Amino acid sequence: MAEPFTFVAMAGIYIHIPFCKKACHYCNFHFSTTHHQMEQMLASIKKEAILQKNYLSETIETVYFGGGTPSLLSVSQLEKLMCVIKAEYKINPNAEITIETNPDDFEEDKLEAWKKIGINRLSIGIQSFVEADLLWMNRAHNALQADTCIRMAKAAGFDNITIDLIYGTPTLSDEAWKENVEKALSLEIDHISCYALTVEPKTGLAKMIQQNKLEDVDPDKQARHFSLLMGWLGDAGFDHYEISNFCKPGKKSKHNSNYWSGVDYLGLGPSAHSFNGKSRQWNIANNALYIKNLEEDQVPFELEELTDFQRINEYIMTSLRTMEGLSLELISNKWGEQKVVEILKIAQKPILQGFMLHQNQNLILTNEGKLMADGIASDLFFI
Ligand code: SF4
Repeated sequence: MAEPFTFVAMAGIYIHIPFCKKACHYCNFHFSTTHHQMEQMLASIKKEAILQKNYLSETIETVYFGGGTPSLLSVSQLEKLMCVIKAEYKINPNAEITIETNPDDFEEDKLEAWKKIGINRLSIGIQSFVEADLLWMNRAHNALQADTCIRMAKAAGFDNITIDLIYGTPTLSDEAWKENVEKALSLEIDHISCYALTVEPKTGLAKMIQQNKLEDVDPDKQARHFSLLMGWLGDAGFDHYEISNFCKPGKKSKHNSNYWSGVDYLGLGPSAHSFNGKSRQWNIANNALYIKNLEEDQVPFELEELTDFQRINEYIMTSLRTMEGLSLELISNKWGEQKVVEILKIAQKPILQGFMLHQNQNLILTNEGKLMADGIASDLFFI
Protein backbone atom coordinates (compact mmCIF):
# COMPACT_ATOMS: atom_id res chain seq x y z
CA MET A 1 0.00 0.00 0.00
CA ALA A 2 1.40 3.36 -0.99
CA GLU A 3 2.33 5.87 1.66
CA PRO A 4 0.12 8.95 1.47
CA PHE A 5 1.79 12.01 -0.03
CA THR A 6 0.98 14.74 2.45
CA PHE A 7 2.47 18.10 3.27
CA VAL A 8 3.01 17.84 7.00
CA ALA A 9 4.75 20.38 9.15
CA MET A 10 8.30 19.21 8.79
CA ALA A 11 11.33 20.58 7.08
CA GLY A 12 15.02 20.01 6.52
CA ILE A 13 18.23 21.99 6.40
CA TYR A 14 21.11 21.23 4.06
CA ILE A 15 24.52 22.82 4.67
CA HIS A 16 27.01 22.78 1.80
CA ILE A 17 30.69 22.73 2.78
CA PRO A 18 32.45 23.48 -0.52
CA PHE A 19 35.92 22.08 0.13
CA CYS A 20 37.61 18.78 -0.73
CA LYS A 21 41.14 17.39 -0.36
CA LYS A 22 41.33 16.21 -3.92
CA ALA A 23 39.20 16.57 -7.04
CA CYS A 24 37.64 13.24 -7.94
CA HIS A 25 37.83 12.95 -11.73
CA TYR A 26 34.07 12.47 -12.22
CA CYS A 27 32.78 15.14 -9.83
CA ASN A 28 30.75 18.15 -10.95
CA PHE A 29 29.64 19.33 -7.51
CA HIS A 30 30.65 22.76 -6.29
CA PHE A 31 33.90 22.49 -4.31
CA SER A 32 37.42 23.89 -4.07
CA THR A 33 40.62 22.06 -3.20
CA THR A 34 42.23 25.21 -1.80
CA HIS A 35 41.13 25.87 1.74
CA HIS A 36 42.41 29.36 2.50
CA GLN A 37 38.84 30.72 2.58
CA MET A 38 37.58 28.09 5.01
CA GLU A 39 37.13 30.40 8.02
CA GLN A 40 35.49 33.16 5.97
CA MET A 41 33.24 30.57 4.38
CA LEU A 42 32.11 29.20 7.74
CA ALA A 43 31.45 32.72 9.02
CA SER A 44 29.38 33.38 5.88
CA ILE A 45 27.36 30.18 6.22
CA LYS A 46 26.62 31.07 9.84
CA LYS A 47 25.52 34.51 8.78
CA GLU A 48 23.30 33.01 6.09
CA ALA A 49 21.74 30.72 8.71
CA ILE A 50 20.81 33.83 10.72
CA LEU A 51 19.57 35.85 7.73
CA GLN A 52 17.43 32.96 6.45
CA LYS A 53 15.95 31.92 9.77
CA ASN A 54 12.42 32.85 8.68
CA TYR A 55 12.56 30.81 5.46
CA LEU A 56 11.20 27.77 7.28
CA SER A 57 8.47 28.04 9.87
CA GLU A 58 8.24 24.32 10.56
CA THR A 59 10.14 22.19 13.03
CA ILE A 60 13.35 20.87 11.51
CA GLU A 61 13.30 17.11 11.24
CA THR A 62 16.55 16.61 9.36
CA VAL A 63 19.88 18.40 9.17
CA TYR A 64 22.36 17.32 6.51
CA PHE A 65 25.99 18.43 6.23
CA GLY A 66 26.97 17.78 2.61
CA GLY A 67 29.40 19.08 0.07
CA GLY A 68 32.20 18.96 -0.82
CA THR A 69 33.56 17.14 2.18
CA PRO A 70 32.16 18.30 5.54
CA SER A 71 34.21 15.66 7.38
CA LEU A 72 37.22 17.90 6.60
CA LEU A 73 35.97 20.36 9.20
CA SER A 74 37.65 20.31 12.57
CA VAL A 75 35.49 19.34 15.52
CA SER A 76 35.44 22.91 16.75
CA GLN A 77 34.42 24.29 13.33
CA LEU A 78 31.57 21.81 13.05
CA GLU A 79 30.50 22.38 16.64
CA LYS A 80 30.28 26.15 16.17
CA LEU A 81 28.27 25.73 12.98
CA MET A 82 25.88 23.35 14.71
CA CYS A 83 25.51 25.78 17.61
CA VAL A 84 24.25 28.49 15.25
CA ILE A 85 21.82 26.09 13.55
CA LYS A 86 20.45 25.00 16.92
CA ALA A 87 20.17 28.58 18.13
CA GLU A 88 18.34 29.87 15.04
CA TYR A 89 16.03 26.95 14.20
CA LYS A 90 13.61 24.76 16.06
CA ILE A 91 15.23 21.36 15.75
CA ASN A 92 13.25 18.27 16.73
CA PRO A 93 15.21 16.53 19.52
CA ASN A 94 14.87 13.30 17.49
CA ALA A 95 15.99 14.91 14.23
CA GLU A 96 18.08 12.88 11.80
CA ILE A 97 21.44 14.68 11.65
CA THR A 98 23.74 13.41 8.90
CA ILE A 99 27.27 14.25 7.90
CA GLU A 100 28.83 13.23 4.60
CA THR A 101 32.25 11.79 5.29
CA ASN A 102 35.22 10.48 3.37
CA PRO A 103 37.10 7.42 4.66
CA ASP A 104 40.43 9.26 4.94
CA ASP A 105 38.96 11.70 7.50
CA PHE A 106 38.07 9.06 10.09
CA GLU A 107 39.72 9.40 13.49
CA GLU A 108 38.47 7.90 16.74
CA ASP A 109 38.38 11.27 18.52
CA LYS A 110 36.49 12.85 15.66
CA LEU A 111 33.87 10.12 15.66
CA GLU A 112 33.29 10.58 19.39
CA ALA A 113 33.03 14.34 18.94
CA TRP A 114 30.56 14.02 16.05
CA LYS A 115 28.29 11.99 18.31
CA LYS A 116 28.53 14.60 21.08
CA ILE A 117 27.64 17.36 18.63
CA GLY A 118 24.46 15.43 17.81
CA ILE A 119 25.38 13.75 14.53
CA ASN A 120 23.46 10.46 14.45
CA ARG A 121 23.90 9.35 10.85
CA LEU A 122 27.03 8.95 8.74
CA SER A 123 26.99 8.99 4.96
CA ILE A 124 30.34 7.55 3.87
CA GLY A 125 31.70 8.14 0.38
CA ILE A 126 33.19 4.68 -0.09
CA GLN A 127 32.48 4.53 -3.87
CA SER A 128 34.46 1.29 -4.18
CA PHE A 129 36.44 -1.21 -2.13
CA VAL A 130 38.65 -1.93 -5.17
CA GLU A 131 42.00 -0.15 -5.26
CA ALA A 132 42.23 0.17 -9.07
CA ASP A 133 38.75 1.63 -9.17
CA LEU A 134 39.56 4.24 -6.49
CA LEU A 135 42.70 5.23 -8.37
CA TRP A 136 40.75 5.55 -11.64
CA MET A 137 38.29 7.88 -9.87
CA ASN A 138 41.14 9.84 -8.20
CA ARG A 139 39.64 9.36 -4.76
CA ALA A 140 41.63 10.57 -1.75
CA HIS A 141 41.27 7.25 0.11
CA ASN A 142 42.43 3.70 -0.54
CA ALA A 143 40.71 0.31 -0.30
CA LEU A 144 41.99 -0.39 3.20
CA GLN A 145 40.60 2.92 4.50
CA ALA A 146 37.27 2.12 2.86
CA ASP A 147 37.01 -1.01 4.96
CA THR A 148 38.53 0.37 8.18
CA CYS A 149 36.37 3.49 8.41
CA ILE A 150 33.16 1.45 8.54
CA ARG A 151 34.53 -0.72 11.35
CA MET A 152 35.63 2.44 13.21
CA ALA A 153 32.21 4.05 12.83
CA LYS A 154 30.50 0.94 14.17
CA ALA A 155 32.95 0.62 17.05
CA ALA A 156 32.20 4.25 17.94
CA GLY A 157 28.52 3.36 18.22
CA PHE A 158 27.09 4.71 14.95
CA ASP A 159 24.25 2.42 13.97
CA ASN A 160 22.80 4.57 11.20
CA ILE A 161 25.33 4.41 8.39
CA THR A 162 24.88 4.72 4.67
CA ILE A 163 27.56 4.22 2.07
CA ASP A 164 27.80 5.38 -1.53
CA LEU A 165 28.99 2.97 -4.21
CA ILE A 166 29.68 3.74 -7.88
CA TYR A 167 29.24 1.13 -10.60
CA GLY A 168 29.88 0.90 -14.31
CA THR A 169 33.46 2.19 -14.28
CA PRO A 170 35.91 0.62 -16.78
CA THR A 171 38.02 -0.67 -13.88
CA LEU A 172 35.12 -2.51 -12.23
CA SER A 173 34.48 -5.98 -13.63
CA ASP A 174 31.19 -7.75 -12.92
CA GLU A 175 33.07 -9.93 -10.46
CA ALA A 176 34.60 -6.92 -8.68
CA TRP A 177 31.17 -5.24 -8.55
CA LYS A 178 29.82 -8.35 -6.86
CA GLU A 179 32.72 -8.28 -4.39
CA ASN A 180 31.98 -4.62 -3.63
CA VAL A 181 28.36 -5.34 -2.81
CA GLU A 182 29.27 -8.47 -0.84
CA LYS A 183 31.79 -6.45 1.13
CA ALA A 184 29.12 -3.91 2.06
CA LEU A 185 26.78 -6.71 3.12
CA SER A 186 29.50 -8.41 5.17
CA LEU A 187 30.06 -5.12 7.01
CA GLU A 188 26.33 -5.13 7.86
CA ILE A 189 25.51 -1.84 6.20
CA ASP A 190 21.76 -1.19 6.24
CA HIS A 191 21.56 1.61 3.69
CA ILE A 192 23.40 1.77 0.36
CA SER A 193 23.20 4.46 -2.32
CA CYS A 194 24.47 3.29 -5.69
CA TYR A 195 25.15 5.48 -8.71
CA ALA A 196 26.15 4.73 -12.28
CA LEU A 197 29.28 6.66 -13.10
CA THR A 198 28.19 9.48 -15.37
CA VAL A 199 30.64 11.49 -17.43
CA GLU A 200 29.61 15.06 -16.74
CA PRO A 201 30.76 17.79 -19.11
CA LYS A 202 33.70 19.94 -18.00
CA THR A 203 34.95 17.37 -15.47
CA GLY A 204 38.50 16.00 -15.45
CA LEU A 205 37.01 12.66 -16.47
CA ALA A 206 35.31 14.07 -19.57
CA LYS A 207 38.56 15.75 -20.60
CA MET A 208 40.70 12.65 -20.08
CA ILE A 209 38.27 10.45 -22.00
CA GLN A 210 38.26 12.98 -24.84
CA GLN A 211 42.08 12.93 -24.88
CA ASN A 212 42.05 9.10 -24.83
CA LYS A 213 43.88 9.10 -21.50
CA LEU A 214 41.09 7.15 -19.79
CA GLU A 215 38.71 4.54 -21.09
CA ASP A 216 35.10 5.68 -21.59
CA VAL A 217 32.22 4.14 -19.63
CA ASP A 218 30.08 1.46 -21.26
CA PRO A 219 26.30 2.01 -20.91
CA ASP A 220 25.60 -1.72 -21.39
CA LYS A 221 27.90 -2.56 -18.52
CA GLN A 222 26.19 0.07 -16.37
CA ALA A 223 22.74 -1.37 -17.10
CA ARG A 224 24.06 -4.86 -16.33
CA HIS A 225 25.61 -3.72 -13.04
CA PHE A 226 22.33 -2.05 -12.05
CA SER A 227 20.30 -5.18 -12.85
CA LEU A 228 22.74 -7.37 -10.93
CA LEU A 229 22.61 -4.96 -8.01
CA MET A 230 18.80 -5.08 -7.81
CA GLY A 231 18.98 -8.87 -7.70
CA TRP A 232 21.72 -9.09 -5.07
CA LEU A 233 20.28 -6.51 -2.70
CA GLY A 234 16.74 -7.84 -3.16
CA ASP A 235 18.00 -11.30 -2.16
CA ALA A 236 19.71 -9.74 0.86
CA GLY A 237 16.41 -8.30 2.12
CA PHE A 238 16.87 -4.70 1.03
CA ASP A 239 14.00 -2.52 -0.13
CA HIS A 240 14.73 -0.69 -3.37
CA TYR A 241 12.98 2.40 -2.09
CA GLU A 242 14.33 4.87 -4.62
CA ILE A 243 16.14 4.29 -7.92
CA SER A 244 19.58 4.88 -6.38
CA ASN A 245 18.77 3.91 -2.79
CA PHE A 246 18.42 0.57 -1.06
CA CYS A 247 17.83 -0.08 2.62
CA LYS A 248 16.83 -2.68 5.14
CA PRO A 249 13.19 -2.18 6.23
CA GLY A 250 12.85 0.85 8.50
CA LYS A 251 16.23 2.31 7.50
CA LYS A 252 15.19 4.87 4.88
CA SER A 253 17.01 8.19 4.82
CA LYS A 254 14.56 10.71 6.27
CA HIS A 255 16.34 13.63 4.69
CA ASN A 256 16.26 12.29 1.14
CA SER A 257 12.77 10.84 1.53
CA ASN A 258 11.59 14.31 2.47
CA TYR A 259 13.11 15.77 -0.70
CA TRP A 260 11.24 13.21 -2.76
CA SER A 261 7.93 13.87 -1.05
CA GLY A 262 7.99 17.64 -1.48
CA VAL A 263 8.87 18.69 2.07
CA ASP A 264 10.28 22.23 2.47
CA TYR A 265 14.00 22.58 2.92
CA LEU A 266 16.56 25.31 3.27
CA GLY A 267 20.01 25.04 1.72
CA LEU A 268 22.86 27.04 3.25
CA GLY A 269 26.23 27.63 1.61
CA PRO A 270 27.36 28.24 -1.97
CA SER A 271 25.38 26.32 -4.63
CA ALA A 272 22.84 25.08 -2.05
CA HIS A 273 19.20 24.87 -3.16
CA SER A 274 16.07 25.70 -1.14
CA PHE A 275 12.41 24.88 -1.69
CA ASN A 276 9.30 26.16 0.08
CA GLY A 277 6.51 24.52 -1.90
CA LYS A 278 6.00 27.51 -4.19
CA SER A 279 9.46 28.48 -5.37
CA ARG A 280 12.91 27.08 -5.66
CA GLN A 281 16.08 29.10 -5.14
CA TRP A 282 19.75 28.36 -5.45
CA ASN A 283 22.75 30.14 -4.02
CA ILE A 284 25.60 31.35 -6.18
CA ALA A 285 28.14 28.58 -6.88
CA ASN A 286 31.21 30.74 -6.33
CA ASN A 287 33.00 30.80 -2.97
CA ALA A 288 34.52 34.29 -3.23
CA LEU A 289 31.26 35.93 -4.39
CA TYR A 290 29.22 34.05 -1.81
CA ILE A 291 31.52 35.30 0.96
CA LYS A 292 31.58 38.86 -0.40
CA ASN A 293 27.78 39.04 -0.52
CA LEU A 294 27.35 37.66 2.97
CA GLU A 295 29.88 40.17 4.28
CA GLU A 296 27.38 42.77 3.01
CA ASP A 297 24.48 40.89 4.66
CA GLN A 298 23.10 39.72 1.30
CA VAL A 299 22.27 36.12 0.41
CA PRO A 300 23.22 35.72 -3.25
CA PHE A 301 20.61 33.49 -4.88
CA GLU A 302 18.43 33.15 -7.95
CA LEU A 303 14.78 32.31 -7.54
CA GLU A 304 12.25 30.57 -9.71
CA GLU A 305 8.51 30.55 -8.97
CA LEU A 306 7.23 27.11 -9.86
CA THR A 307 4.33 26.80 -12.27
CA ASP A 308 1.66 24.13 -11.87
CA PHE A 309 3.20 22.22 -14.77
CA GLN A 310 6.64 22.30 -13.15
CA ARG A 311 5.19 21.04 -9.89
CA ILE A 312 3.26 18.17 -11.40
CA ASN A 313 6.21 17.20 -13.61
CA GLU A 314 8.52 17.29 -10.64
CA TYR A 315 6.13 15.06 -8.74
CA ILE A 316 5.96 12.63 -11.69
CA MET A 317 9.75 12.49 -11.91
CA THR A 318 10.46 12.02 -8.20
CA SER A 319 7.53 9.73 -7.37
CA LEU A 320 8.24 7.32 -10.22
CA ARG A 321 11.73 6.87 -8.80
CA THR A 322 10.32 5.64 -5.49
CA MET A 323 9.01 2.20 -4.61
CA GLU A 324 5.57 3.62 -3.76
CA GLY A 325 5.38 5.08 -7.25
CA LEU A 326 3.12 7.80 -8.57
CA SER A 327 -0.17 8.24 -6.70
CA LEU A 328 -3.07 8.88 -9.07
CA GLU A 329 -5.17 9.86 -6.09
CA LEU A 330 -2.73 12.60 -5.20
CA ILE A 331 -2.64 13.82 -8.80
CA SER A 332 -6.43 13.96 -8.81
CA ASN A 333 -6.62 15.79 -5.49
CA LYS A 334 -3.98 18.35 -6.36
CA TRP A 335 -4.34 18.84 -10.08
CA GLY A 336 -7.73 17.37 -11.05
CA GLU A 337 -9.13 14.14 -12.50
CA GLN A 338 -8.42 15.19 -16.09
CA LYS A 339 -4.68 14.96 -15.41
CA VAL A 340 -5.16 11.37 -14.22
CA VAL A 341 -6.97 10.52 -17.45
CA GLU A 342 -4.12 12.00 -19.50
CA ILE A 343 -1.42 10.23 -17.49
CA LEU A 344 -3.19 6.87 -17.73
CA LYS A 345 -3.53 7.26 -21.48
CA ILE A 346 0.24 7.65 -21.94
CA ALA A 347 1.05 5.07 -19.26
CA GLN A 348 -0.64 2.29 -21.24
CA LYS A 349 2.44 1.85 -23.43
CA PRO A 350 5.02 1.28 -20.63
CA ILE A 351 2.43 -0.87 -18.82
CA LEU A 352 2.00 -3.11 -21.89
CA GLN A 353 5.79 -3.24 -22.38
CA GLY A 354 6.19 -4.53 -18.82
CA PHE A 355 7.99 -1.41 -17.61
CA MET A 356 5.26 -0.20 -15.28
CA LEU A 357 2.51 -1.61 -13.03
CA HIS A 358 -0.84 -0.02 -12.28
CA GLN A 359 -1.54 -1.12 -8.72
CA ASN A 360 -3.96 0.29 -6.15
CA GLN A 361 -4.23 3.70 -7.79
CA ASN A 362 -0.46 3.89 -8.15
CA LEU A 363 1.91 3.64 -11.10
CA ILE A 364 5.05 1.77 -10.14
CA LEU A 365 8.11 1.00 -12.28
CA THR A 366 9.16 -2.62 -12.65
CA ASN A 367 12.86 -3.52 -12.46
CA GLU A 368 13.04 -3.32 -16.27
CA GLY A 369 11.30 0.07 -16.14
CA LYS A 370 13.80 1.36 -13.58
CA LEU A 371 16.51 1.02 -16.22
CA MET A 372 14.77 3.77 -18.20
CA ALA A 373 13.06 5.71 -15.42
CA ASP A 374 13.92 9.19 -16.70
CA GLY A 375 12.61 8.48 -20.20
CA ILE A 376 9.36 6.98 -18.93
CA ALA A 377 8.83 9.93 -16.58
CA SER A 378 9.48 12.50 -19.28
CA ASP A 379 6.92 10.83 -21.58
CA LEU A 380 4.34 11.54 -18.85
CA PHE A 381 5.30 15.19 -18.45
CA PHE A 382 2.80 17.96 -19.12
CA ILE A 383 3.99 20.66 -21.50
S1 SF4 B 1 35.02 14.15 -2.40
FE1 SF4 B 1 32.90 14.25 -3.16
S2 SF4 B 1 32.50 16.41 -3.55
FE2 SF4 B 1 34.72 16.18 -3.32
S3 SF4 B 1 35.49 15.96 -5.40
FE3 SF4 B 1 35.16 13.88 -4.62
S4 SF4 B 1 33.05 13.37 -5.21
FE4 SF4 B 1 33.28 15.57 -5.44
